[in-house]
Order: sequence, then C-alpha cells, then structure tokens
Amino acid sequence: MKKNKKIRISPETISLPCCGVDSHAHLSLKNFQNNLNQVLKRANRCGVQYIGNVFLSCDEFIKNVNNLKNKNIFFILGIHPHDGQKLGVKEIEKIRQICLEYDIKAIGEIGLDYYYNFSEPKIQQKIFEYQINLALELNKPIVIHSREAKEDTFAILNNFKKINKCLFHCFSYGKSEIRKILDQGWSVSFSGAITFKKSQELQEIAKYTPIRHILLETDCPYLTPEPYRGKKNEPAFIVFSAYKLAFLKKKNVIDIWYYTGQNAKKFFNII
Ligand SMILES: [Zn+2]
Repeated sequence: MKKNKKIRISPETISLPCCGVDSHAHLSLKNFQNNLNQVLKRANRCGVQYIGNVFLSCDEFIKNVNNLKNKNIFFILGIHPHDGQKLGVKEIEKIRQICLEYDIKAIGEIGLDYYYNFSEPKIQQKIFEYQINLALELNKPIVIHSREAKEDTFAILNNFKKINKCLFHCFSYGKSEIRKILDQGWSVSFSGAITFKKSQELQEIAKYTPIRHILLETDCPYLTPEPYRGKKNEPAFIVFSAYKLAFLKKKNVIDIWYYTGQNAKKFFNII
C-alpha cells in the first residue's frame, strides 16, 4: 500500500441539518461550468442551505446571473483589489446600477492586496474607498479581501464614520487585527485554511474569536479543506471546516453549523 494515502470520508457522512451557509464562493468560474447542478445538489445534501456567490465584475455578473438564479444562492458583487487598475472607477457606477436592479446582498470582495500588487496600491486604495462609499450609500454590508495590507486596510476603514456590517473574508491576520475587528462589532469568515496542519496561528484565532463573529466559507474553487486539499474545492466541502471549528472550540458540530449559518443569514439580511 502507498504510504501517506489520505483517507477521504465523503462530506455527506458528517450529516448536518440544512441550515449552514457557504458565505463566499465563486461558482461562475469555469471550473463549475460542466457540473454546477451536481455541485449544488451535493452542497444541499451536506446541509448547505445558502451559498453567497461572489462576482468580481459587472461583466461576470451579467454573463452568469441567469445560470445562478436559484433560491439557495445569493449575490455579492464588487471590484477585487487585483482588478482595480483594469476596471477603473467607471465600473463602480455599473455596480450601482446592478444593485438598483438586482438583489445584491453585499459589496465585495473589496480591499487591498499588497502581496501580488496586480494593481498599484494608490489605485487599490481609491477603488476600495469608492466602494465603501457606495455600500454606505446603498446600505449594504461589505466583504473585505485584505492581504499583506493590514495597516492601510484598517486606516481606510477607520476613515469612515460608521460601518456597521463588515466581514473580513478568509481572515489571515493575527490577534491584534482580530481584536480591532471584534471591537468594531465586525465579523470574520474562516475558509478551509483552518483545517491545514500549518495553520496553527489561524486555529488559535478561531479559538479566541467568539462564535457570534464567525462565518464559514469555502472561497471555492480555491482553498480546499483537508482531507480534500489538492482537489478542486466546492461548497459541500465546507462541512470539514465546520467540523474543524467545532473541534477547536470543543463544541458540537451541529451547534457550530447552526450558529455560523445564522450569523451569515443575519449579516447578509437573508432572514
Ligand atoms: Zn473570493
């Protein structure tokens, strides 16, 4: 027998009630073109009641919205920091129009990414600020993507008077950042990264963060949790992150599933 062969239980075996939420998925990417129905059915069988689909541009939204119209999917739209330079400020006016026409539950993912710097920092900052303004004007929550840019991200957020609903997706910073988030009454979502062996710091953060501030997400097709790491991610696999979070918090997985689901529904105004 091959050494190190992973034993992969199927996500259905965790057998959770249908009340969980995958708060961040990219189902319009071509990875899901041929099997979207199967993926949605599997998610549903695994207890995923809602999936928040994130669109990274108005074009992506328009092209895919009909395909993704489904009672279990809700929409998030925004300019990713990578694309600020490419899409420019004019895209923000288009986002406003779409928000007036469709039920968009949040503006995201917006923020700063100085790890790749695909857009110049100055442009990223401007596009981020404009989109926060738009969200405040439309009274919508914001979903933050922030990588290697913690100082500037908080500096920009703090320039705004009152942002009630702010979610740091794929949280990857440390304890002092989580403190700032909790002090504001904001939330974080954990991805499959909390299941990785090397994610000890993140696991400590997950233990420390009160459950009422936690949402779960897949960010699929990326960041596949163990034991499926290396395969393409999909919403059904979120149950492994729920299981890990329950283990870290020494709580029942059904409770974790229910409460993180409720948090997401409240955050995105689904209930
Ligand atoms: Zn994403």
